Amino acid sequence: MTSSSRSARPPLNRRLAEFGTTIFAEMSALAVRTGAINLGQGFPDTDGPEEIREAAVRALRDGRGNQYPPGPGVPELRTAVAAHQQRRYGLTYDPDTEVLVTAGATEAIAAALLGLLEPGDEVIALEPYYDSYAACIAMAGGTRVPVTLRPHEQSFRLDLDELRDAVTDRTRLLLVNTPHNPTGTVLTREELTAIAELAVERDLLVVTDEVYEHLVFDEAEHLPLATLPGMRERTVTIGSAGKSFSFTGWKVGWVTSTPELVSAVRSAKQFLTYVASGPFQYAVAEALALPDTYFEEFRADMLAKRDLLASGLSDAGFEVFRTAGTYFITTDIRPLGESDGFAFCRALPERAGVVAIPNAVFYDHREAGAPFVRFAFCKRTEVLADATQRLRKAFAH
Ligand SMILES: *Cc1c(COP(=O)(O)O)cnc(C)c1O
Repeated sequence: MTSSSRSARPPLNRRLAEFGTTIFAEMSALAVRTGAINLGQGFPDTDGPEEIREAAVRALRDGRGNQYPPGPGVPELRTAVAAHQQRRYGLTYDPDTEVLVTAGATEAIAAALLGLLEPGDEVIALEPYYDSYAACIAMAGGTRVPVTLRPHEQSFRLDLDELRDAVTDRTRLLLVNTPHNPTGTVLTREELTAIAELAVERDLLVVTDEVYEHLVFDEAEHLPLATLPGMRERTVTIGSAGKSFSFTGWKVGWVTSTPELVSAVRSAKQFLTYVASGPFQYAVAEALALPDTYFEEFRADMLAKRDLLASGLSDAGFEVFRTAGTYFITTDIRPLGESDGFAFCRALPERAGVVAIPNAVFYDHREAGAPFVRFAFCKRTEVLADATQRLRKAFAH
């Protein structure tokens, strides 16, 4: 084949062509170039508990996990995941057949979709959604069917009729995320019950991304979908050490489900990374067994950060949606006389010295997300104080 005939066809396949480069790369580069404070990407700027870092060092030194760990994950971590689900939610999982360790939640999502979908299957996802969902559905040959969360009384809510109407004979799977990135919504018992009833009635699988399970605020409560009637046997639940313990670089995640569903996910996972993060798996096993005080202090610390950023954004003139969970605050920029989140975020580093993410990137119906902009508050207090001061100076008059 000559090079000219090869160049007639672009190298990137059609399944992925629509996705381009993630917005986080563009915005983080902008932050570096302008010296702006990066409240775009959701990673903490301080590491998790010192004793857990030390546990990783110990595992490395003791030669635990330096060679390929077992495919399903090290037994210590699988046991710790099962104990955590039991202790927090009363859910019982067999560590040998019902727990699978993955390279972060990202691989868990990919492997679940690749392992469970046939080409042409429809997947209902709550829009706006985490950016890897659409790409993984596409890689699995599925068709995504977004159901839009709509602003309602200072938060984004699910329209249950819209959800029911989205189910067709081709629907295979509901892809749920609670606490929800980017809106900060925590689905209520009523909303989750409706999702569960629909899943049972239409015999759907559910994949639920619960990576922010420990970051719920005020009176909100995280209710795992798998605890609802009829759900244990049809739900693949995903968790991650990145968000729960502030070690996003370790890439340790997990899946809990039935032996049949875990086995389907593992069938795909074994050909993605096969295994990952050996020594870190031992450290995360210790993290999951930390006393309740760790989780309470973590939550209180993040709550204070949320409040600091929310009041700064509000003073600057943004409309601030209530964040019941996650690392993120979604704002509406229309009170500032703006309506295009993309243009706003591209100009924000020069204008205010802060980087944020336009929520429209998380939508198929881009117009539905146009005026919304997401800020991350998982940063040191002094960084948030500096950022809010910059925003007030740039916008408040
Ligand atoms: C961060 C995030 C993930 C990815 O988690 P990793 O463990 O870092 O792969 C998945 N889902 C949501 C909603 C997230 O915010």
